[in-house]
Amino acid sequence: MQNPSRAIHAGFTVCPGCDLLLEHIRTSTDHTAVCPRCGSRLYRARRDAVTKTLALSLTGLLLYLPANFMTLLTFDVLGTSSSTTIFASSLSMFAQHQFIVGVVVMLTGLVFPLCTLSLLFAVSLGLHLDRQWPWMPVLLRWHHHLTEWAMQDVFLIGVFVTIIKMSHSATIESGTGLFCFIGLVLVTIAAQSAIDYPLFWSRLDRGGPPPMPPAGAGTAREAGLMACHTCGRVMAASDEQGARCPRCGGQVHLRRADSIGRTWALVITAIIFTFPANLLPIMEVEYLGVPDRNTIMDGIIYFFHEGSYGIGAIILTASILVPLFKILGMILILLSIHFRWQGWLRHKSLMFRFIQFIGRWSMLDIFVIALLCALVRFGYLSTVNVAPAALYFTGVVLATMFSAINFDPRLLWDAAAQAPQEMQETTYATASSS
Ligand SMILES: [Zn+2]
Ligand SMILES: [Zn+2]
Repeated sequence: MQNPSRAIHAGFTVCPGCDLLLEHIRTSTDHTAVCPRCGSRLYRARRDAVTKTLALSLTGLLLYLPANFMTLLTFDVLGTSSSTTIFASSLSMFAQHQFIVGVVVMLTGLVFPLCTLSLLFAVSLGLHLDRQWPWMPVLLRWHHHLTEWAMQDVFLIGVFVTIIKMSHSATIESGTGLFCFIGLVLVTIAAQSAIDYPLFWSRLDRGGPPPMPPAGAGTAREAGLMACHTCGRVMAASDEQGARCPRCGGQVHLRRADSIGRTWALVITAIIFTFPANLLPIMEVEYLGVPDRNTIMDGIIYFFHEGSYGIGAIILTASILVPLFKILGMILILLSIHFRWQGWLRHKSLMFRFIQFIGRWSMLDIFVIALLCALVRFGYLSTVNVAPAALYFTGVVLATMFSAINFDPRLLWDAAAQAPQEMQETTYATASSS
């Protein structure tokens, strides 16, 4: 869930997707300005952004404890009942000695959601009180980086999948925790979409005005400028690695160093992990002492057999199609940079943004397994245990997410621009709103 802030300064904007210099246009509230060349979202003005963000993040923080520590679900099988909370489900992987998967579930399901809400609350409170505390830009920068790693919304879909999966074999009671958790997810989504990043950043900017581009420059690089990836602040271009943004303190690169090499390495890691993730069992169901080990595909086939086509399709999409699409998409983008292919540039940019957007949803199956491990504990009658593929599958999700984070989309446009002139696409440096 990337919600990138954009470089907005009196007069001009730099597109983070393709480095195009654009004249800044004023959009009315809730209208989005998009880059005419690559289609990236540039900025979107929000009404009462500070007050709304403050109120929603505070509500989220109040819901956090009951949502995660009160009873989520209770399963009842033949008079024996078993219940869990979000917190206990996150711990279930540790109980089964899956330490790495446990840490990932704990961080993405519990720790990062709390961090993003707290950071948002602290920054919006500061802005509401009209303060410029020196730590505010650092907190907002951290919030920006952690947003896509806070996966409480994916966890909630996992809760619904678990309910449907178990509805045939157990009586299910929803607890107070479930309603608080639904509230927490909705409030967090609302808080996230209430933020007006350019407004927040401009109120935290204590530096002087940014350098102005010379007339006729097409991209920020041609104008001798570069924009911060986090807050969008424009500064004079520098080839030195480790240049810091004067506003948020984040690292700024003219182009991300070793972006291609690192992205290739992560994509290849993801491909290697894909085989054990899909061929080995991911979950073991013990029924009357007889263990039955299931791969990801077995789980999907089970839903289609049971007639739960919707849930089957969701798991198929999240666990098989999304990782496959991410890997193939990144390979296509990397190859098109290598061979300087010029066709379909805008479509490839759109595909990259889609890969960034869907990356986190592959964690769905891992959350479902964590919930089942915590809930299906009926001794000899039935238990669910995690199996080895869970570790490799988590590896695929992390490797593909990091490959998208390490990739610098501006390289796609640079490579096309270096190709023979007569084949280049014509671009127009004007902003448009939708
Ligand atoms: Zn662009
Ligand atoms: Zn910055």
